[in-house]
Amino acid sequence: MCGVFGVALPPGSGTEAAAVASTGLFGLQHRGQESAGLAVSDGAEIFLYKDLGMIAQVLDDRRLPSFRGDLAIAHCRYSTTGSTIWENAQPTFRLGPRRAVAIGHNGNLVNTRELLTQLEGGKARLAATTDTELLTTLLADEEAPDTVQALLQLLPRVRGAFALVILDRSRIIGLRDPHGFRPLVLGRIPDAGPARDDAALWASDGARDGWVLSSETTGLDIIGAEFVRDVEPGEMVILESGREPRSVRFAPANPALCVFEMIYFARPDSYMEGRNLYEVRRRMGEQLAGEHPAETDLVMPVPDTGAPAAAGYAEASGIPFREGLVRNRYTGRTFIQPSQTLRHRGVTMKLNPLREVVRGKRLTVVDDSIVRGTTTKQIVALLRKAGAAEVHVRISAPPIFHPCFYGIDTQITSELIAATSSVEEIRDFIGADSLGYLSIKGVLAALDLPYDRFCFACFDGRYPEPVPYDAMSRKFMLEEAVPAGG
Ligand code: SF4
Repeated sequence: MCGVFGVALPPGSGTEAAAVASTGLFGLQHRGQESAGLAVSDGAEIFLYKDLGMIAQVLDDRRLPSFRGDLAIAHCRYSTTGSTIWENAQPTFRLGPRRAVAIGHNGNLVNTRELLTQLEGGKARLAATTDTELLTTLLADEEAPDTVQALLQLLPRVRGAFALVILDRSRIIGLRDPHGFRPLVLGRIPDAGPARDDAALWASDGARDGWVLSSETTGLDIIGAEFVRDVEPGEMVILESGREPRSVRFAPANPALCVFEMIYFARPDSYMEGRNLYEVRRRMGEQLAGEHPAETDLVMPVPDTGAPAAAGYAEASGIPFREGLVRNRYTGRTFIQPSQTLRHRGVTMKLNPLREVVRGKRLTVVDDSIVRGTTTKQIVALLRKAGAAEVHVRISAPPIFHPCFYGIDTQITSELIAATSSVEEIRDFIGADSLGYLSIKGVLAALDLPYDRFCFACFDGRYPEPVPYDAMSRKFMLEEAVPAGG
């Protein structure tokens, strides 16, 4: 997973675009904490800065004043299989024979091996080891008069998940793959231009607006931008300084938004598919209470992501809601840490039980997913050690049976506990008194949207975009042509 952001401000904004892009990226920090970066164009040159670390560490106030230009893109990265090294941070940049481009990418391509064969000079020409680097190089090389034309030629050959922000010298292009696996929204900053004396400089009132692309609406909220609409699957939106956005369709839409975005990954204050995600998750908790009731004294969330579903479970069941685990906000998200060693440290570093609340109580503990089972096992053990009489675990998502090839690190099949164990075996492994998962039907009831708008592949194995053998083998044999980027 990654967060991508782009902004086009009216001409003469100085260093504002860089400041807006880095601020907007803070609204997406939950999507990737391994690296951050920014690329800015002043119309003649592209400047790029990226590094490993959180946004505040990488894009600090000392660096931003050197980024002059009206166009900026930004990216925060969570690696899937590409390693955590500086070269793999984004945006990527390539000065090709025909154009210079920088790209921020959220998603994974599934035909990297095939694309690699189309690259003149092959893998040796790549500076980094990600699919994004490959895409950037192919785009910079593509024979066409401009970047939009080059994309229209290149994109039909690219398969998989890609929500992209692309910067060339004179524009930003935001686009989503034909399935729209990863989200991307368009926003507007009204009247964002610098003070003007000559009204004739501005073609229309809309020309004074700033235009924004963001993985989630939280990136708009943090900079005070208005939500305009989702970028459609198969659509590219072109932003130029001082002009209204243009839309070009490069493929018919065949929507399959990752349902995991709705269940867990995106922020609860985000809006996707016209739905507020807190409300969707609260309703998932209501459904869960109906499907898997438990006779307990308290309902409590695994913070923070389990909170909306726990609230819904408590409301529907009539069992009091109480916080029983306190999260240390400064140690990152368990799921997002790349190594198993850090994951193990993660749970105790970031969760502390409230002994007065849990002691002697029968607890319903609500979380949004079980991937490997190790985190849940440690949480159950923490609560028992704090004196809980019973621990009943409820998960506001179905069991994860299949790996994801579209940008979420759900690992190889053998690491998914549900792929190798029954629910009873998982209950036994995590040490809970009972365990219940929400059904796909329950998820859909909470979403109040049809199944065919979403990807449910990690739950039911129906991959919307065929996963070719090389991508499968990449996961199963860990033999990589070009690993996934973000
Ligand atoms: S396989 Fe699962 S995690 Fe991956 S895109 Fe589909 S629903 Fe999302």
